Amino acid sequence: MRREHDDLAVDRRVIERTGDSDVIVVGGGTAGAVVAARLVEAGLRVAVVEAGPDYGSYRCGNWPGELVDARALPVTHDWGYAGRGAGGQQLAFERARVIGGCSAHNGCAQLPGWRGDYDAWAASGCPGWSADDLRPLFARSRKRLRVRAYAPEEIQPFQRAFLDAAVAAGIPLTDDLDELDGEVGCGAEPVNVADGVRWNTAFAYLDPVRDHDGLAIVTDAAVDRVLIANSRAVGVRAVKDGQPLELRAELVVLSAGAYGTPEILLRSGIGPAADLRVQGIEVHADLSGVGANLHDHPASQLEFAGTERLRKELELFARTRWLPEEQTLAKIASPMADGPFDLHVYPWVEPDEAQPSGWRCVVPAGLLTPRSRGRLRLRSPDPAVRAEVDHAYLAEPADVAALAYGVHWALRVIRQAELAGYLGPPLRFPSGTHDEALGAWIRSNHAHIWHPAGTCRMGPDPAKGAVVDPGGRVHGVRGLRVADASVLPSLPRATPALPIAVIGERIAGLILDQRTG
Ligand SMILES: Cc1cc2nc3c(=O)[nH]c(=O)nc-3n(C[C@H](O)[C@H](O)[C@H](O)COP(=O)(O)OP(=O)(O)OC[C@H]3O[C@@H](n4cnc5c(N)ncnc54)[C@H](O)[C@@H]3O)c2cc1C
Repeated sequence: MRREHDDLAVDRRVIERTGDSDVIVVGGGTAGAVVAARLVEAGLRVAVVEAGPDYGSYRCGNWPGELVDARALPVTHDWGYAGRGAGGQQLAFERARVIGGCSAHNGCAQLPGWRGDYDAWAASGCPGWSADDLRPLFARSRKRLRVRAYAPEEIQPFQRAFLDAAVAAGIPLTDDLDELDGEVGCGAEPVNVADGVRWNTAFAYLDPVRDHDGLAIVTDAAVDRVLIANSRAVGVRAVKDGQPLELRAELVVLSAGAYGTPEILLRSGIGPAADLRVQGIEVHADLSGVGANLHDHPASQLEFAGTERLRKELELFARTRWLPEEQTLAKIASPMADGPFDLHVYPWVEPDEAQPSGWRCVVPAGLLTPRSRGRLRLRSPDPAVRAEVDHAYLAEPADVAALAYGVHWALRVIRQAELAGYLGPPLRFPSGTHDEALGAWIRSNHAHIWHPAGTCRMGPDPAKGAVVDPGGRVHGVRGLRVADASVLPSLPRATPALPIAVIGERIAGLILDQRTG
């Protein structure tokens, strides 16, 4: 056996022990920051072990500009995951390696989705996760994250034209994008943008507790595995500055995200036993669901060169106003929808030096209820080697059919006079729109919306693929919980950052209830 998990005797010269933490939170990202802050506020001693850097509080002013500036998506601090799309195309699966996690580099859209998806989680054996149970937590997270909708005068010309074109194509304007009871409609996105700043969960949750004695943030420390003795988690082993680092606590909470958390569980001997043995990893809990149920929101996007008119109007707007690339969104329903809507269309502009206008316009349709499921597998027990991420995008024909509807709808919108004047020559466009040609184009051209989830599914029965119970506790291992995107049984038809902050709120609450109950 290459791994001896119960052997905690490692070289004491290179080991630091926190010794005084009640809880270790692995990953100070979107959910991890929420969990850590809530536990510290309640008086617990928490060590956050984060693989990336921590730039301190917002007020200290040390954060790199691109992570703070909410106008565009940052490109640094990436973990480097990659894989293939349905047509074999190479796809990057960006994930942020920094305190705040993906909330520190995402698009800031904060839509909670549709209540029926949460009610379905509850009905599948996860009591306490219905929309009505979660409403107060959504309200708390929204407040902390400073979520607000763009005012009409803040909407830049391309985004305004999209809304006008969507209305002309038959989708009503709505102000319900921040509600769990919303229907089909289009409007300005609710965003966690405060004075142009991407208000990530590190600012929203960790900053208020940074001065508490109970909080320790261990940075640039990548967790290799959870240390397990007698079916109980007793701590974690990480690598910091090339040296092993061992931390102990009563409870370990994994918040390393939809790729990071299953990687850690698998390296810890928690996962499908046969796969673990192939890697020479000692099995602590045979859980077939670890790494399975991987899904994401796939997207098909039309792309165009921007016109001179677009350049001029954006320049004029930027002289007096803050100019974000993305601001609006339409919720639409394909014939495959099992709820009020199943597609998001959320156009953006981005600088492109290859275009005479200097701009590229993108009109994507993202599928919110994918049926396809993939799997994450370890390539090696070495924590420096990223897992194989097989999303199996569009393996289910219904996913292609729903995206095809989204593309048809986007084609109708781009032809409306309100938008057409901003769009120049097509740069990514289907050559045919009958079913077969469009399906082939979608398979070989699709992307995704960076919403991976589900790899440690929540549910009552491990024999049916559940990895954690409805309290986030890993089945068969005491003292170990998961709180992040990986616990989602199925993605809500939302932008998931807000629901994932809510997962952090709920699991922190359950940890505290258990201690006081
Ligand atoms: C480019 C981009 C744009 C997006 N736009 C939006 C949007 O507009 N709206 C929206 O709602 N969602 C958006 N998302 C998705 C959303 O941000 C994520 O789904 C969500 O933030 C994930 O939260 P999480 O807590 O599961 O993981 P993360 O926020 O990724 O947190 C995981 C943390 O764990 C750390 N970690 C991982 N492995 C280890 C390890 N071994 N040891 C120690 N630490 C580790 C990571 O460094 C990270 O800090 C976007 C994502 C991307 C990448």
